[in-house]
Amino acid sequence: MIDCEQCPDSSCCKDVTVEIDEPDTVEDWDEIRWMVSHKNVSVYKDNEDDWVVEFKTPCAKLDDTGKCTVYDKRPDICRGHALDTCVYNGEGDTHVLRFETVEDVEKYIKENVLEDMRKEAQKDLDEIEKWNLG
Ligand code: SF4
Ligand code: SF4
Repeated sequence: MIDCEQCPDSSCCKDVTVEIDEPDTVEDWDEIRWMVSHKNVSVYKDNEDDWVVEFKTPCAKLDDTGKCTVYDKRPDICRGHALDTCVYNGEGDTHVLRFETVEDVEKYIKENVLEDMRKEAQKDLDEIEKWNLG
Protein backbone atom coordinates (compact mmCIF):
# COMPACT_ATOMS: atom_id res chain seq x y z
CA MET A 1 0.00 0.00 0.00
CA ILE A 2 1.28 3.48 -0.80
CA ASP A 3 0.58 6.51 1.37
CA CYS A 4 -0.40 9.91 0.05
CA GLU A 5 3.18 11.20 0.29
CA GLN A 6 4.15 8.60 -2.32
CA CYS A 7 1.14 9.16 -4.57
CA PRO A 8 2.23 9.79 -8.17
CA ASP A 9 -0.60 12.14 -9.08
CA SER A 10 -3.01 12.91 -6.19
CA SER A 11 -5.80 11.34 -8.26
CA CYS A 12 -8.42 11.65 -5.56
CA CYS A 13 -8.11 15.47 -5.64
CA LYS A 14 -8.58 15.68 -9.38
CA ASP A 15 -12.22 14.90 -9.91
CA VAL A 16 -15.71 15.46 -8.56
CA THR A 17 -17.92 12.40 -8.38
CA VAL A 18 -21.67 12.33 -7.80
CA GLU A 19 -23.74 9.18 -7.36
CA ILE A 20 -26.67 8.77 -9.75
CA ASP A 21 -29.52 6.27 -9.98
CA GLU A 22 -28.90 3.09 -11.93
CA PRO A 23 -30.19 3.72 -15.47
CA ASP A 24 -33.41 1.87 -16.14
CA THR A 25 -35.39 3.73 -18.75
CA VAL A 26 -34.72 5.24 -22.18
CA GLU A 27 -34.72 8.65 -20.49
CA ASP A 28 -32.04 7.53 -18.01
CA TRP A 29 -29.79 6.27 -20.79
CA ASP A 30 -30.39 9.42 -22.82
CA GLU A 31 -29.31 11.47 -19.82
CA ILE A 32 -26.07 9.48 -19.64
CA ARG A 33 -25.53 10.09 -23.37
CA TRP A 34 -25.94 13.79 -22.64
CA MET A 35 -23.57 13.74 -19.65
CA VAL A 36 -20.70 12.05 -21.48
CA SER A 37 -21.15 14.34 -24.48
CA HIS A 38 -19.41 16.94 -22.33
CA LYS A 39 -15.64 17.16 -22.21
CA ASN A 40 -14.05 15.63 -19.08
CA VAL A 41 -17.29 14.00 -17.94
CA SER A 42 -17.57 10.22 -17.58
CA VAL A 43 -20.09 7.83 -16.08
CA TYR A 44 -19.14 4.57 -14.43
CA LYS A 45 -20.48 1.73 -12.32
CA ASP A 46 -18.13 0.87 -9.49
CA ASN A 47 -17.36 -2.45 -7.88
CA GLU A 48 -20.06 -1.83 -5.26
CA ASP A 49 -22.73 -1.47 -7.98
CA ASP A 50 -23.01 2.29 -7.49
CA TRP A 51 -23.49 4.43 -10.59
CA VAL A 52 -21.41 7.60 -10.60
CA VAL A 53 -20.91 10.64 -12.80
CA GLU A 54 -17.33 11.87 -12.72
CA PHE A 55 -16.19 15.40 -13.61
CA LYS A 56 -12.44 15.41 -14.21
CA THR A 57 -11.27 18.70 -12.82
CA PRO A 58 -8.45 19.26 -10.33
CA CYS A 59 -9.20 20.89 -7.02
CA ALA A 60 -8.05 24.53 -7.00
CA LYS A 61 -6.60 23.94 -3.51
CA LEU A 62 -4.08 21.37 -4.76
CA ASP A 63 -0.62 22.90 -5.23
CA ASP A 64 1.92 22.06 -7.91
CA THR A 65 3.65 19.52 -5.66
CA GLY A 66 0.43 17.55 -5.08
CA LYS A 67 -0.21 18.92 -1.58
CA CYS A 68 -3.49 20.24 -0.22
CA THR A 69 -3.10 23.92 0.66
CA VAL A 70 -6.09 23.88 3.02
CA TYR A 71 -5.38 20.55 4.69
CA ASP A 72 -6.42 21.57 8.22
CA LYS A 73 -9.80 22.81 7.06
CA ARG A 74 -10.36 20.52 4.09
CA PRO A 75 -14.01 19.51 3.50
CA ASP A 76 -15.43 16.46 5.27
CA ILE A 77 -15.66 14.55 2.01
CA CYS A 78 -11.83 14.81 1.73
CA ARG A 79 -11.39 13.76 5.38
CA GLY A 80 -13.60 10.74 4.78
CA HIS A 81 -11.66 9.55 1.74
CA ALA A 82 -10.24 6.16 2.68
CA LEU A 83 -6.61 5.54 1.78
CA ASP A 84 -7.08 1.77 1.72
CA THR A 85 -9.85 1.88 -0.91
CA CYS A 86 -8.47 4.68 -3.10
CA VAL A 87 -7.65 4.12 -6.75
CA TYR A 88 -4.07 3.03 -5.89
CA ASN A 89 -4.71 0.95 -2.79
CA GLY A 90 -8.16 -0.55 -3.37
CA GLU A 91 -8.63 -4.12 -4.48
CA GLY A 92 -8.89 -4.53 -8.23
CA ASP A 93 -10.49 -2.24 -10.75
CA THR A 94 -12.91 0.20 -9.15
CA HIS A 95 -14.79 0.56 -12.45
CA VAL A 96 -16.93 -2.38 -13.50
CA LEU A 97 -18.31 -0.34 -16.39
CA ARG A 98 -17.01 2.95 -17.69
CA PHE A 99 -18.39 5.31 -20.36
CA GLU A 100 -16.17 8.10 -21.67
CA THR A 101 -18.07 8.91 -24.86
CA VAL A 102 -21.52 8.76 -26.40
CA GLU A 103 -20.23 5.93 -28.59
CA ASP A 104 -19.29 3.92 -25.48
CA VAL A 105 -22.84 4.29 -24.15
CA GLU A 106 -24.53 3.45 -27.44
CA LYS A 107 -22.38 0.34 -27.94
CA TYR A 108 -23.27 -0.85 -24.45
CA ILE A 109 -27.00 -0.21 -25.01
CA LYS A 110 -26.90 -2.07 -28.31
CA GLU A 111 -25.08 -5.08 -26.85
CA ASN A 112 -26.57 -5.28 -23.35
CA VAL A 113 -29.74 -3.22 -22.89
CA LEU A 114 -31.79 -3.19 -26.07
CA GLU A 115 -32.93 -6.80 -25.95
CA ASP A 116 -34.22 -6.49 -22.36
CA MET A 117 -36.02 -3.26 -23.29
CA ARG A 118 -37.69 -5.00 -26.24
CA LYS A 119 -38.84 -7.84 -23.97
CA GLU A 120 -40.24 -5.40 -21.40
CA ALA A 121 -42.06 -3.42 -24.10
CA GLN A 122 -43.48 -6.63 -25.54
CA LYS A 123 -44.72 -7.66 -22.07
CA ASP A 124 -46.63 -4.37 -21.80
CA LEU A 125 -48.12 -4.86 -25.27
CA ASP A 126 -49.16 -8.43 -24.41
CA GLU A 127 -50.82 -7.16 -21.24
CA ILE A 128 -52.78 -4.52 -23.14
CA GLU A 129 -53.82 -7.11 -25.73
CA LYS A 130 -55.62 -8.95 -22.93
CA TRP A 131 -57.84 -5.93 -22.35
CA ASN A 132 -59.62 -6.54 -25.70
CA LEU A 133 -59.75 -2.85 -26.52
CA GLY A 134 -61.26 -3.64 -29.90
S1 SF4 B 1 -5.77 8.64 -1.17
FE1 SF4 B 1 -4.79 7.42 -2.76
S2 SF4 B 1 -5.14 8.57 -4.70
FE2 SF4 B 1 -5.50 9.95 -2.97
S3 SF4 B 1 -3.55 11.03 -2.67
FE3 SF4 B 1 -3.61 9.27 -1.25
S4 SF4 B 1 -2.59 7.59 -2.36
FE4 SF4 B 1 -3.13 9.17 -3.87
S1 SF4 C 1 -9.51 20.39 -0.48
FE1 SF4 C 1 -7.48 19.46 -0.34
S2 SF4 C 1 -7.85 17.29 0.11
FE2 SF4 C 1 -9.76 18.17 -0.65
S3 SF4 C 1 -9.79 17.78 -2.87
FE3 SF4 C 1 -8.90 19.82 -2.55
S4 SF4 C 1 -6.69 19.49 -2.45
FE4 SF4 C 1 -7.69 17.49 -2.12
